[in-house]
Amino acid sequence: MSYRTAMLAAFVALMCGRGFCGDKKGDDGFVPLFNGKNFDGWTIMGKTEGWAIKDGVIHSDGGQGGQWLRTKKKYSNFILKVEWKVSKGGNSGVFIRSGTDLALSPVAQRLVTGYEVQISNARRDDSHCTGSLYGFVAVKPRPDESADKWHTFEIRCQGPRVTVKSDGIKCIDFDQSTNAITKKKPLKGYIGLQDSHSPKGHYIEYRNVRIKPLKSKRSSNVDKKRGLSSQSTLEAPIDSDRFVSLFPVRNPVAALSEKPSENRVETSFRGLADSTPPKLAWNATTVKEHKAWRTGFREKMLEVLGRMPERVPLEVKWIEKKRFDKFTRHKIYIQTEKTFWCPVYYFVPHEIKKRTPAIVCLHGHDGVVPYLGEGRKPGEARPVLSRDFARFFAEHGYVTALPIVRGWNETAGYQDPYGGSPKRSCQNVTMNSLLLGMSPAGLRCWDAMRVIDFLETQKKVDTKRIGIAGLSGGGTLSLYLPILDDRVKLVMMAGVFSSYRNSFFAMNHCICNCLPGVMQYGEMSDVVALHAPRPVLLINGQRDKSAPIADARQGLGKLKRVYTLLGVPKRIEADFFDGPHEWSNGKTLEFLSKHFGK
Ligand SMILES: [Zn+2]
Repeated sequence: MSYRTAMLAAFVALMCGRGFCGDKKGDDGFVPLFNGKNFDGWTIMGKTEGWAIKDGVIHSDGGQGGQWLRTKKKYSNFILKVEWKVSKGGNSGVFIRSGTDLALSPVAQRLVTGYEVQISNARRDDSHCTGSLYGFVAVKPRPDESADKWHTFEIRCQGPRVTVKSDGIKCIDFDQSTNAITKKKPLKGYIGLQDSHSPKGHYIEYRNVRIKPLKSKRSSNVDKKRGLSSQSTLEAPIDSDRFVSLFPVRNPVAALSEKPSENRVETSFRGLADSTPPKLAWNATTVKEHKAWRTGFREKMLEVLGRMPERVPLEVKWIEKKRFDKFTRHKIYIQTEKTFWCPVYYFVPHEIKKRTPAIVCLHGHDGVVPYLGEGRKPGEARPVLSRDFARFFAEHGYVTALPIVRGWNETAGYQDPYGGSPKRSCQNVTMNSLLLGMSPAGLRCWDAMRVIDFLETQKKVDTKRIGIAGLSGGGTLSLYLPILDDRVKLVMMAGVFSSYRNSFFAMNHCICNCLPGVMQYGEMSDVVALHAPRPVLLINGQRDKSAPIADARQGLGKLKRVYTLLGVPKRIEADFFDGPHEWSNGKTLEFLSKHFGK
């Protein structure tokens, strides 16, 4: 006589006396699945030593080789009631609609078997704790998981809907047809009680295992399609050596739910930006606070602008001279570092009686040519919105210098994969400068600073009145050049001022606009606040999609507070004109005249 047989025989008489016998329906329609005496109606999976019956209670000790008890009948729609008690740190579960296809891989089993309603006293997440459909559906709320105490499960399966009440509180209410994986799970299968799925010293106990079959609300065709018989079936003998757990999902896996409706990098980055407020945003209430803020923020900006090349003595090559109506335009090359000469168009008005202000003009992503203002017939009017501001200012008596920004036109290296005409190498400039601890904006500003070095050598230039003007990519440089160079006394920036958050960060801008890490420290309005108290003219087309006007207006509001605090509110101005991404001379001459006295 085996150990198990002896053990079961010892309890038969006792249990019959306790009223566990029989399979009769109670008044509430529930039928006992366990008779309290023996395992009639059940198939023992794994070693029989893993199971015992004590005082009408099914008992399993850990480490005995038990696997699970499963009913001989399959059930489709039902309410299952079971009481359970688990040891401290113990682990077990109740299987529903399970199968026994042992040849399937664990992954396939997940699809053809039902669920394990988990029982656990170990600390697990909500999709692996007591009451969860293990590894598939998380509980809400979390049930009581106290050890060494009787708890109740009421598990209801009706078609695709599965609900679990633990100690009378509903913690699972799941329609498996709503999920791509679970909708493939069967609607019929065995009921099972797992052994003490923990090492020796742990136990699980079950009692009052009762079931109430429910009528199907679905067409019987569904089951037929799934190849399920509507009759109960006896299971074929199991080769225990081939046994693999039907529920091998022991590693934590995410609970299954609907696929996230939106899961794109933009969404992720918006969230990351939300959790990255600028640490050094301007918030001064006194001049003293402003000065302290400026020192700290400027230092950080110098850091993010990166390392600069080694300075070399100023060398200039004059290679072309062209006389126009009101000015002469030179083409010169200025050596800005050991291995680079910056090409510059240098405009000198014919009529200069004394030292005159000079403007460094910075072009954008269409390269230098549109900024030269060539190709107009004599007498042809300049369009209202025109990019040739270097020429325009020269025609109005200002000395101007229009450098070819590093990476465009004749200075381009590898052509940008997404760039058209003119030739440009923003990606090349950005990648290589970042690899060297520099930044594309920093390097391009370096060249502009060397242009200012050159202007300082020119007798016709008033070195105390040097300003800058930039559109688009040139506008980006005008955000940073005044931080690097105090000789810049006036700024006109177009087509850029808004916010990092809603422009560069939110759009498919050129990579050269990326200044690594800047958003951690400040927004564009904070950057321009570093230019104060120098005069700044913000030029924005109200229909400029790359520099949202709402952000420009908001930033202007902040800058007005900065300039007001410093006692120079009139030095911050805006020309928010009715137009697209373009330069406007609507206010430039007046602005220059006001601040450069010309
Ligand atoms: Zn670029």
